[in-house]
Amino acid sequence: MNDDKKTVSDTTPEQPDLSRRKLITGAASVGVAAGALGFPAIVRAEPQIKWRLASSFPKSLDTIYGAAEVVAKHVANATNGKFQIQVFSGGEIVPAFGVLDAVKDGTVEMGHSASYYFYGKDPTFAFDTAVPFGLNSRQQSAWMWEGGGLELLREFFRDWNIYQIPLGNTGTQMGGWFRKEIKTVADLKGLKMRIGGFAGQVISRLGAVPQQIPGGDIYPALEKGTIDAAEWVGPYDDHKLGFNKVAKYYYYPGWWEGSAQLTAYVNLKKWAELPKDYQQILEDACAYAHAEMQARYDVKNPIALKQLVGSGTKLTPFPKEVLLACKAAAEELYAETAAANPRFKKVYDAWAKFRADQEMWFSVAEASFDRFVQGNPLKTK
Ligand code: CA
Repeated sequence: MNDDKKTVSDTTPEQPDLSRRKLITGAASVGVAAGALGFPAIVRAEPQIKWRLASSFPKSLDTIYGAAEVVAKHVANATNGKFQIQVFSGGEIVPAFGVLDAVKDGTVEMGHSASYYFYGKDPTFAFDTAVPFGLNSRQQSAWMWEGGGLELLREFFRDWNIYQIPLGNTGTQMGGWFRKEIKTVADLKGLKMRIGGFAGQVISRLGAVPQQIPGGDIYPALEKGTIDAAEWVGPYDDHKLGFNKVAKYYYYPGWWEGSAQLTAYVNLKKWAELPKDYQQILEDACAYAHAEMQARYDVKNPIALKQLVGSGTKLTPFPKEVLLACKAAAEELYAETAAANPRFKKVYDAWAKFRADQEMWFSVAEASFDRFVQGNPLKTK
């Protein structure tokens, strides 16, 4: 604004008259008017609502399972205890991989899961969690809230009778635990590996045998040798689940999970029935827990990594040859899936365009900053 005639009084907001006398007379006159017209004082009673939330995760994982409890606590506090969400761990009332159907069918009002578990129903679900060689957690959040991702995924989830709300991100994951070293692509042949979501389709193209196993059941499978390798999340959770006791080599990065977004599912009808303020409170609580989960992982992972390496874990990067072969297999898979599935194609095309811009931008300031400070740590005394 460029107004020469502007005076001081123009920019000084009028001070409200907060004198006690004025407030008292004001209040009294409102009371008289309402009383005179015979209106009762209308205070809308907030309904008492009790929901059940089925998680896909074991209680022992305070980060990933705990996010749903954070939401429940925030929602209860913000509604004076009127909106209660009871959280159940994977298998407690619904099997870990039954969460999507349970919410779709209204068996429970809410769920918390990783949507890529359900890629067998439709590979489009993978975009809601992680797609191999895809976005990191900053980029995933940018795509969700500002890049059009949320609109696309909510449209997709509508057909599953679900209202989707992002609820957590683990950050870039580790490549998991292997009993034997992976030196070449040939070492993947016949390897039975527990691996999350869409990535299974990538490694199966290279001869591996992917297994989808819920978090709580991985340890016994790896211990018994039913599987040769397993990935879960990262140092903190993996240490908690004890994988270091049954496999020696800890590979990185988890190229299939540059980030992994977790998601709250709300049955569409139950969502529509929820008062507007409760809807807002629930969305806000999920957004808070989403940010908190990433912060928890970033604080806990380095501590756990040091403990793991200190107790004999062999930290090992995947050979570049293996990464390049997996990337080529992923590109092939995306092209074939997009050609066969218009829902996948619609999301993939928008996602791929968004991703290209993000990688261009992140390679300039972000990545060069990271590379420099990590390679040249500040000297501290
Ligand atoms: Ca994983």
